Amino acid sequence: MRGESDVLIVGAGPAGAAAGILLARAGVRVAVVDRARFPRDKTCGDALSNRAVARLADLGVLGRVLERSHATVRAAHAILPDGTHIERRYPTPGLIVPRLLLDAALRDALEQSGAEVMEGVSVRRVVADPTRPRALGAELDWRARVVLAADGPGSVAWEATGRSPPAPQALGIAITTYLEELPAGLAPAVSEHYFERFLPSGYGWVFPAVDGASNVGVYQTVDAYKRRETRLDALLAQFLAAHPERFRGAHARGRERTWQLPLARPTLPPSGPGLLTLGDAARLVDPLSGEGIWHALESGFIAAQGTLAALERGRLDAGAARAIAGRIALRVGVPAAARRAIQLGLDAVIRSGVDDLPLVKKLLTLGYGSGALDPSHARAGR
Ligand SMILES: Cc1cc2nc3c(=O)[nH]c(=O)nc-3n(C[C@H](O)[C@H](O)[C@H](O)COP(=O)(O)OP(=O)(O)OC[C@H]3O[C@@H](n4cnc5c(N)ncnc54)[C@H](O)[C@@H]3O)c2cc1C
Repeated sequence: MRGESDVLIVGAGPAGAAAGILLARAGVRVAVVDRARFPRDKTCGDALSNRAVARLADLGVLGRVLERSHATVRAAHAILPDGTHIERRYPTPGLIVPRLLLDAALRDALEQSGAEVMEGVSVRRVVADPTRPRALGAELDWRARVVLAADGPGSVAWEATGRSPPAPQALGIAITTYLEELPAGLAPAVSEHYFERFLPSGYGWVFPAVDGASNVGVYQTVDAYKRRETRLDALLAQFLAAHPERFRGAHARGRERTWQLPLARPTLPPSGPGLLTLGDAARLVDPLSGEGIWHALESGFIAAQGTLAALERGRLDAGAARAIAGRIALRVGVPAAARRAIQLGLDAVIRSGVDDLPLVKKLLTLGYGSGALDPSHARAGR
């Protein structure tokens, strides 16, 4: 496949779709390539925070998403090792939308906005250039004025910009499964996050069911995971066994799935002449919560805005690309990376077993329950 466009986007997940929809609506000639064919699944907890929901509304795709199966999330419970929980109510609700459905809705919106979507086409290499960057694959030779790499954790952009891919320590990993016939939780429309002594720098989750199946999983940073000689499926089994009353009688729909999460660091996302990275390709995932969909959407908005300005100027040189990467870091990556400090504090509390002391519980309630530990939700609705 040979061709050219103003902008080529690699990857039609939330990051690529957000940027593509905005650019195409602004009259830019946008081509999007994805190695998958949609509808395609993406290993995920399927949770959209309220700020992600707000971004979908800004994109004008929320109505289309809500037409598909989903569940509403009005509150979260942080469940401590002694079984007690702290509740945080969200000022505006979040959603659970299976990624099979969410990403298909985004892909359809991309096409409707005027972008050319090419599915089942893999990019192997991108060549950075301020006026004529290029994407190459076994069946692809595409020239554009700007290339946006939104192709997930193993992005082709890392090689093109001469940056080494993230070290394993900069990653999180997670395993997820869908469970049917779960006994009712404490309350409806609540996301449950279980903090366990055997799961430092991580948590187990149970999310409200969609079409009778709850997304259940375990997340942990790779450095914490590597300290234990275990396997992810064993960790999930340990989580389920630790809460027999919560999972009694439940059975799996489909298989367990694992995937990596590129955790945010206080550094600039890779960029180069004619080339930007966004979403997981830019390593923006919140290390505390594992949230990455808002980060993908938000970086898509920032990249689209920066790309429009560059197209008006006629080129995206290395300095301008770095400035856009800086805006993504300031707005998305650095605040997410800072949440590692909260994670380490929480680890220390849980490891030392003081989480059941009344004073510590009060502090956790003040921090978590009020949303003060969670700037994303405190700013909800924006
Ligand atoms: C188990 C797990 C649970 C998670 N749970 C949540 C959650 O509940 N809520 C949340 O907010 N975040 C969650 N995340 C993080 C979230 O899934 C990601 O941060 C988010 O999907 C990033 O979106 P993206 O558009 O950057 O990348 P992706 O969604 O990964 O999309 C990338 C796209 O690029 C395509 N692609 C890749 N390589 C190429 C190539 N070489 N050529 C062409 N196309 C290519 C892929 O096919 C894919 O469609 C979770 C992650 C994991 C692993």
